[in-house]
This record gives sequence, structure tokens and C-alpha cells, in this order.
Amino acid sequence: DERMVLQFQITLYGDDERLVMARDITRLHQLEEMRRDFVANVSHELRTPLTVLSGYLETYSDYADQLPPRFARGLGQMQEQTTRMQNLVNDLLLLSRLETDRGGADHAAFDLQALLESVKRDAEALSAGRQTISVELEQPASLTGSEQEIRSAISNLVFNAVRYTPPGSHITLRFKPHPKGGCLEVEDDGEGIDPIHIPRLTERFYRVDKGRSTATGGTGLGLAIVKHVLLRHDAHLEINSHPGQGATFRCIFPASRLILATDDAFPHHA
Ligand code: ADP
Repeated sequence: DERMVLQFQITLYGDDERLVMARDITRLHQLEEMRRDFVANVSHELRTPLTVLSGYLETYSDYADQLPPRFARGLGQMQEQTTRMQNLVNDLLLLSRLETDRGGADHAAFDLQALLESVKRDAEALSAGRQTISVELEQPASLTGSEQEIRSAISNLVFNAVRYTPPGSHITLRFKPHPKGGCLEVEDDGEGIDPIHIPRLTERFYRVDKGRSTATGGTGLGLAIVKHVLLRHDAHLEINSHPGQGATFRCIFPASRLILATDDAFPHHA
């Protein structure tokens, strides 16, 4: 279309002088849009063939005991890799939806305690007893926005903690008041992340340890999804970690997105 996109940079000199620079970024903008559409279309087109593949593989695996062992092993591998591709395609679609849908998240309120308890149960299933996972709410609170999106963001953070911490680690899902409003955080006491990697962690497919990450079943898109979900909720992510001392992923929400309850108003939380 005919839209032109300009980027302005205004520099102030003293009290009355300004330098205004305008840059035509129309082409850059168009390329970015094309990239997004392309990724969304390819992901969408891959869905059907993957569904067909996984359907047949499931049927065949019912007869796995009639196959020679080396074929049965191959069948298991095919199922595993098909599931990986499906997860990847689903994450790519989710991410492109989060990027293109500029409406911002809706404003329905949902209770944080219920959400955190439910994410905790899912994470415990993934952890299978290797880590201990707890929920701490310093103050009962509700958030306004898309519960489904916030759930997927928090799940990504907690599942990462389960995947990247050794057995015996402690993982805490915590909500506490924050000068800006409120902070929803996932803290672990695992091996942590070297600070040089932290600024790049939310980039798509950025991984600290390529080999290990693929084996853990992640798609490489988890933190990119978290970042975009938070953006749509006027919130942002802060990552804090020191090697050997665990990692904390903080989602900082503005007061406008929070309904903080006093214990008086919500006696059942007291
Ligand atoms: P994925 O987990 O699929 O590789 P993510 O975007 O979710 O992709 O995470 C990016 C990288 O950040 C991971 O590959 C891992 O190296 C690192 N990481 C994320 N969470 C943790 C954590 N709790 N402890 C240590 N490293 C982590």
C-alpha cells in the first residue's frame, strides 16, 4: 500500500535549539511485514501435513510390538520429532499472532493465585519429582488482560526452570507488590546464566547451550513469546542471574493492570 513510515529523532541543544532528523523506514517496515506474513503462512501450511503424519504414526505405534525392534525404535523417534515440529509450528503461529494483533490484550480480571496454582500443577507433571515447586503470594491480587496469554508466559518461564535446573533444585512462583505496580516472578536456584547471554535471551532461537536445549524439548521461542505477551499487557521482563546462583525472571506489571486486594476485602485469602 501507499503508507510511508517515518522515524523522527529530536535532539535538544540548550533551551531553544532543536535538531530534528527524519528517516524514511518504509521499506524496512514492509520487509518486516513480509517476513512476519511469510512465517505465519509457512507455519499454517505445515499444520495439516504434521497432523496427518502424527495420526498415522499413532496408529502404527499400536502395532509396534509386531515390528522388529530396530523399526520400533525408529517409530518412537519419528513420533518424538513430529511432536517437536508441531510444538515449533504452534509457537511460531502464537508468536506471529502476538506480533500482528496490535489491539493489545483485553481487560478481563482473573485471580493470580488460581492461575499460579494451576501452572504449578502442570510444571510438577513435567518435573516428575526432580524439583520442588512452590507458590508464594505476598498479597492476593488479580490481573487484567488475557488469562490465556499470561498463562502461556508464566508456563514458559516455569517449564524453562524445570528444564534447565538440576534435580533437587527449588523453583518459586511468586507475586509481590512492586514500586511500578506488581511483580510476578519465577525464581530458581539452578546453575544460572552467564550475564553476557542475558540481553539476547528473548531473541527467537537464541540459546545458551544449543545441544542441551534441543534435548530438553524447547522450541527456542519461549522467552520471545513471554516478551511479546508482556508488551501487550504494558508489562516488561527483567532477567537476573549469576552463574551458580540460579536465575530470576521478573514480569513487572503497571498498577493499571492490577487489582490488589487487602486481606479485609478478601477474607478467604487471609
Ligand atoms: P528454549 O528453552 O526452547 O531453548 P527459551 O527462549 O525459552 O528457548 O530460552 C532461551 C534460553 O535461555 C534457553 O535455551 C536456556 O539456555 C536459557 N534459559 C532459560 N531459562 C533458564 C533458566 N531458568 N536457567 C538457566 N537457563 C535458562
